[in-house]
Amino acid sequence: MPAKVDMDKIVSLCKRRGLIFPSSEIYGGLASCWDYGPMGVELKRNVRDAWWKSIVHERDDVVGLDTSIMMHPGVWAASGHIDSFTDPLVECKSCHLRWRADAIEGQGCPKCGGELTEPRMFNLMFKTSMGPVEEEASTIYLRPETAQGIFVNFDNVITTSRKKLPLGIAQIGKSFRNEITTGNFIFRTREFEHMELEYFVKPGTDEEWLDYWVKERFDWYVKLGVRKENLRLRQHGKDELAHYARDCHDIEYLFPMGWSELEGIANRGDFDLVQHAKHSGKELGYYDAEAGEKYVPYVIEPSAGVDRSVLAFLIDAYDEEEVEGEKRTVLHLHRSLAPIKVAVLPLSRNEKLTPLAKEVFNKLCPNFVTDYDDSQSIGRRYRRQDEIGTPFCVTIDFESLEDKQVTIRERDSLAQIRVPTGELNKVIEAKLKGEAFDVSPLWATRDK
Ligand code: ATP
Repeated sequence: MPAKVDMDKIVSLCKRRGLIFPSSEIYGGLASCWDYGPMGVELKRNVRDAWWKSIVHERDDVVGLDTSIMMHPGVWAASGHIDSFTDPLVECKSCHLRWRADAIEGQGCPKCGGELTEPRMFNLMFKTSMGPVEEEASTIYLRPETAQGIFVNFDNVITTSRKKLPLGIAQIGKSFRNEITTGNFIFRTREFEHMELEYFVKPGTDEEWLDYWVKERFDWYVKLGVRKENLRLRQHGKDELAHYARDCHDIEYLFPMGWSELEGIANRGDFDLVQHAKHSGKELGYYDAEAGEKYVPYVIEPSAGVDRSVLAFLIDAYDEEEVEGEKRTVLHLHRSLAPIKVAVLPLSRNEKLTPLAKEVFNKLCPNFVTDYDDSQSIGRRYRRQDEIGTPFCVTIDFESLEDKQVTIRERDSLAQIRVPTGELNKVIEAKLKGEAFDVSPLWATRDK
């Protein structure tokens, strides 16, 4: 597999196969905004679900939350976002393009070499107003992270969940940042989705928990099929730490434009709870009844982007292979991430095949995300399914009418097995759980 894939190939596959489209395309698009198509919406949902499953459902020390995007403006004063959520902006005096001063090399404009203005600090939060009468409306912000919704609900969750510390609160949702420079497809956009965990611990145990979560999060990507050699960890230097952070490690991925952040895992100390207690006047702490002590917890925060993860999964899964003299493009997506799990493909649109093919589809679709496709040649239909990463295709041929058996073709090995239709649900379920493709004695194995 190629270590690096051209981003253009990913963008073009996404457009061609209904994964991701430019936003408002018929109006010429809107810079850095993208829409997820029928396949993309499934992929994105699977990424979210995989995160939620591993962070919330498979543990008893994390609960979920879904807080509103618009929050009291006091939140952003307390969190430091109004004062410190800024990037240094410079503008080219000749072509007027704007750049992030810390992201350009050399003195002049990267586009035309023109002279640049002195940097000024630019706040990345989107401002809007709430209320029907403009003059009386109050200024509010679209949240730039989901984390603050968690901090301001800390007390609500602690008092209602009957959980002890260490306790995590997880949230997935949209965030907005008026980034100066966007680009690299869905890597950096102004509207994106965060998957954030705030894990509250006793001070003094924070460093241990930081190490734990760095490892845990790194392994999550590997478990979902990202090749280890395309991932690395990078600890932030002291000069690079955000205003709230005591320590931070980035998980970086080898994107086509080079190593870049995929997720950050920070030790936020007690910064947020102390700030919100100060600004709101409400006490925010934890009483450990067993030890009889009271303290303000420290927070370990793994913060990841749904869209950026989708991009990494796509890039890592993308492959071009030669099969029997023909080129095929395939997404080797992990089974749990693939938008479609199984495709039902009658050999042709012959009317004799249709009833059995429909019967098979109806059996499968309540249990798995299933596609039914009987247009064009079987070869083209396989190619389409390969390009969207469908792990299994079920083919119904004329023999099937006689013996009530169908063929399952596996995406990666291209191996085929024949299975009685009555066994299909059971077999697909086992295969989606990771059972090897040719081990069961229930059916005959056929060469590809
Ligand atoms: P960067 O330095 O890349 O702007 P950041 O360090 O500001 O990112 P965090 O605030 O740590 O990002 O956000 C955590 C994660 O959220 C990032 O690792 C990334 O996956 C995602 N993310 C942040 N900003 C964006 C964006 N503008 N577009 C898409 N995803 C983003």
